Parts: sequence; structure tokens; C-alpha cells
Amino acid sequence: MALCGVMRAAVLHAPGQPLSLERVPIAAPGPGQVRVKVAACGVCRTDLHLSDGEIAGATYPRILGHEAVGTVESGEGHRAGTRVGVPWLGFACGACARCNAGEENLCEHAQFTGATRDGGFAEYLVADARFCFPLPEQFTDLEAAPLLCAGLIGYRALRLAGPGPRVGLYGFGAAAHLLAQVLRWQGREVFAFTRPDDLAAQDFARELGARWAGSSDAPPPVPLDAAILFAPVGELVPRALAAVRPGGTVVCGGIHMSDIPRFPYALLWGERVLRSVANLTRQDAAEFLALAPKAGLRPVTHPYPLSDANRALADLRRGALQGAAVLVTD
Ligand SMILES: [Zn+2]
Ligand SMILES: [Zn+2]
Repeated sequence: MALCGVMRAAVLHAPGQPLSLERVPIAAPGPGQVRVKVAACGVCRTDLHLSDGEIAGATYPRILGHEAVGTVESGEGHRAGTRVGVPWLGFACGACARCNAGEENLCEHAQFTGATRDGGFAEYLVADARFCFPLPEQFTDLEAAPLLCAGLIGYRALRLAGPGPRVGLYGFGAAAHLLAQVLRWQGREVFAFTRPDDLAAQDFARELGARWAGSSDAPPPVPLDAAILFAPVGELVPRALAAVRPGGTVVCGGIHMSDIPRFPYALLWGERVLRSVANLTRQDAAEFLALAPKAGLRPVTHPYPLSDANRALADLRRGALQGAAVLVTD
């Protein structure tokens, strides 16, 4: 790959290590690719899983970051100067059985930004132009960043959860705070479940219109039509099944989760559905990025300079912030 200059990047050399702020070569875009000058890049729970070596198929050393917002500088497929977002799905082959079935999120040859190809914790990244999305102008760079995974994969999880009016969200982080706003805009009721002692997150959920917010070890006040799990905690799966009505759906929205404990079949009986959501399709992105301005989404963001990437990851790990952490280049 041709090179052109150097840039600052936060590099994960191997799982278990902190990110290393380094000067690395800037890659030149190949056929069908663009080079994007990064303005902001969201920090996602998946970045913690990558740092912990919990994502199968990820390769290292790697520049993380799959919620990148920036400006196209060169390459093919987008005009120079276009503001785009670069999401988690970085490539799909378009030819495998899953792609042919319209399930490019499950492509057998998929590549993932910030996991199998370098991502946006850097001043530049190179991306497949087909998987870069022009962004609604209503959102600043900072606000647009969390839309690209928290929002987009959250939206896919919401679609798979069905149209019922009462939806539980387990884990009230970046994804849930956006989904709660979508649900309220749709006229649906939000039930927010957090760690028992996380009163700040419960207050935050109520501020965003949740009908109820409480501990994840408590039942909701009424049976739910669906529940979406963003917390990577397997113990929550039987609890969520117990919280949904017969015929209700439980969606596991994260890429990694601790083991699910044994549970009685009675929790699944009654045509309850338990499923995961994986990755995204370009169709999901088109739908969500059209919906986000209409719904008047207000992403709550906390900026960190790129050089503070490790502090952002640590704050996310401790649950120290409400909304989304976003790295900004200057
Ligand atoms: Zn993510
Ligand atoms: Zn494919």
C-alpha cells in the first residue's frame, strides 16, 4: 500500500495492553476506497472487548475506532470534502450466500473497522467508500459519532425487538440513551435497567423520558413486549425473559457477553424469543440516518482528546459517564 506522510494514532499492540499513542504512516486509498481526515470517533463497549481480547477474528496490532466522523480527502466513491461516517462494518463481499440473501451483516468475508482493518482512533483512516455514509448536517461531528454504532446497531436491535409499546433496555449507556429517544419519539414506553447502585444512570434515563428506571435485579412494574440487552452480562438473559410477556422478544445487542446461566424452560415457553443482533447492513444505516434528524435525537457526548484515549476507555469501563465518550482530533 502506498504511503503518504505520518499521523498520530492510538494503537492497540496486543490485548491487555493500553493503547499506545504513536506516529504511524498514513495509508493511501486503494481502488474503491477513500482517505478520511478524522474529526471525531466514538468510543464503544466493543473497544473494551477488543482491548480485552474477547472478539474472535480481530487482529493486532490495530487502530481501534468504528464510529469515525471525518472529511473525505481523496480516493474514489465520494467527492473530496464530503463529511462521512465510517461504521463497524467495513467491507462485505457482495457474493457469498449471506450477502446474496440480503444479510451482508453476516457476510462470510466481512471486515470490521477497528478490528480487522484500522479504524478512527487516528488522524486519518482509509475506508471502503461503499461503507462510508454521508451524515445529516443537523449533527455536529461530536454528536454524529455515536450514531454510527450505538445508534445504528441499537436501531437494528430495536427493529428486531418488534413494534410492541413497552420496551426494556438493560444497560443504559450510549446505545440505550439514543434508543430511549427514538422510542419516545415513536410514542413507546421505555423501561431502563441499570446496575443496582447506578442511580445516576437511572436519573439520566428518566430525564430522557423513561417511564420507569430501576435495578436490573428488579422486575419491571408491568410485563414488557420486548427487552434489549446492552450490558454484556449473561445473568441478565433469564431476568429479561422473565420480564417480557408471552410472545415477547429478548434481543442481545452486544458483540460479547458473559456466559448465560442455566434457566428453566418456563422462562422461554409461551413463544418468547431470544436472539442476538450482529453488525449492521447499509440499509440499517440509511434508515437510521434518515430517522435520527426527524426524531430530533440529541446525542449526549463527552469529548476526549485523541491523546487521552486510554482515559476514555477507563471511564467507559467504570461507567463513569452518561451518554457517549468521543475522541476528537485537533
Ligand atoms: Zn460499537
Ligand atoms: Zn459476503
